[in-house]
Amino acid sequence: MLKNKVAVVTGGTRGIGLAIVKAFLAEGASVALFGSRMETVNKAIDEIKAENPSAPVIGLAPDLSDYTSVEKAMMEVKNHYGRIDILANNAGISARESIYEYDPAAFQKVIDLNVNSVFYCAKAVAPFMKEQGAGSIINTSSMVSLYGQPSGCAYPASKYAVNGLTKSLARELGKDNIRVNAVLPGVTRTDMVAALPKEMVDSIAATIPLGRVGEPEEVANAFVFLASDKASYITGATLSVDGATQV
Ligand code: NAD
Repeated sequence: MLKNKVAVVTGGTRGIGLAIVKAFLAEGASVALFGSRMETVNKAIDEIKAENPSAPVIGLAPDLSDYTSVEKAMMEVKNHYGRIDILANNAGISARESIYEYDPAAFQKVIDLNVNSVFYCAKAVAPFMKEQGAGSIINTSSMVSLYGQPSGCAYPASKYAVNGLTKSLARELGKDNIRVNAVLPGVTRTDMVAALPKEMVDSIAATIPLGRVGEPEEVANAFVFLASDKASYITGATLSVDGATQV
């Protein structure tokens, strides 16, 4: 589905991001994965190469909260592969603080990564995509962008902003044939969820109509579809991948 396409995946070293990288590679794309440190980037690449030694994948660790660093990394990817067709803005951190103890610097940190980096990465790749005549940008939002959550207000606030960027950029970039969509995962079995006691995961799963939490690969499949030409008339969409979770 993604033959001859080049993709950038931020937060591609583990969890949902690594599943997106693997799914994109399986569908024929060449991939640049971004992580916060070269050590974790190299670990992810080693894992991918152990499964497929000739996988077309490179890794970088730009500071996503700094536009100059993002711009430089995107230029490196463009120089390496010659183009960028797909951007998966997936890096993100969550929050749990009560507003009574919330350090404003901690609030800002969530916004810097979850919101600013989405804008920075989109701004850096949009000119390449415009020049190529097509592009697909997919942002990882969250089910909390529909319901909020009862603590760590920066996290849902950041994901509401991601939906706003998605819908606004879809309207702005449609004329350049650049599609912009968001995927809204529900509770997904990444390291964080895997570390929870089984009883806790079971009690979360019991509230979900499909009766279980999601797997990273199931979220990644939505990225593959939205990245592909099969989704050629889909832009500005917020696609829930959450088993119909209601809060
Ligand atoms: P994770 O913690 O397993 O992975 C996060 C990724 O982001 C890692 O690759 C990490 O390198 C990168 N990252 C973290 N801080 C960074 C920084 N400062 N600079 C650059 N990269 C950084 O998380 P995950 O669960 O796979 O989440 C991925 C995305 O999915 C996030 O945007 C998250 O908000 C969203 N999400 C996750 C769930 C879930 O249940 N896991 C649910 C809804 C949405």
